[in-house]
Amino acid sequence: MTMPILNVESISKHFGGFAALSDVSLAVAAGERLGIIGPNGSGKTTLINCISGALRCDVGTIIFYSQNVSRLAPHRRTRLGIARSFQIPRPFFSMSVAENIAVALEFAARGAAVTGDARTLLAQMRLADKADRKPAELTQVDLRKLELARALATQPRLLILDEVMAGLAATEVDEMLDIVMGVSQLGVAIIMIEHIMRAIMRFSERVVCLDAGRIVAEAAPAAIVQDKMVRRIYLGA
Ligand code: ADP
Ligand code: MG
Repeated sequence: MTMPILNVESISKHFGGFAALSDVSLAVAAGERLGIIGPNGSGKTTLINCISGALRCDVGTIIFYSQNVSRLAPHRRTRLGIARSFQIPRPFFSMSVAENIAVALEFAARGAAVTGDARTLLAQMRLADKADRKPAELTQVDLRKLELARALATQPRLLILDEVMAGLAATEVDEMLDIVMGVSQLGVAIIMIEHIMRAIMRFSERVVCLDAGRIVAEAAPAAIVQDKMVRRIYLGA
């Protein structure tokens, strides 16, 4: 791998006596597309919570662009270029789609460029015709796009997506994949947690499988589905 932008070094996270993550290490290269799979409760969301700062790992180190971010507050990590979507979208329900994006842009301190950037993001997410709608009026897929737009408003160098395709119809999954691949082409590194194997296979350059808080497999997508451990614990074969 070329010089990684993200280095997760031997992190662990406990909730009381329960080990949600045990000695997890992971590196991500600039512009890379990394898929993360694993059964429910295997620690996927906990891992990205530790990377984004929603949680602090108990031990271990997280390095982003040579800086130790392990103890930084989430908003400071965002400023450095780490953005994430939430498994449950979290828009401001009293604001329109465009206003939600504008707020995210203002948080990212883009100042004068906000209006133009909002329009660009709306187009990029194929939400231009929904600009004046309230989140409550949106379909699931459009809510996920809005969530993605809000994450992108911070101009991340690393974007982390937590099951942004869960519950979508097949054609909607394809549309989200197209949008995510478009973001990747801009040079943004992306970590995608996803249960939909078809999406993981198309998206990922490399796939990591978590089980019970540990990384149990890491391979190219074509190889991961052949991995014995993955087949047993994840694909149920
Ligand atoms: P995944 O995203 O892979 O489904 P999570 O990372 O959400 O898994 O959860 C991993 C394990 O940690 C689960 O057993 C879950 O119940 C537990 N867990 C997650 N967050 C908390 C928390 N805030 N407090 C206690 N237990 C938690
Ligand atoms: Mg999860």
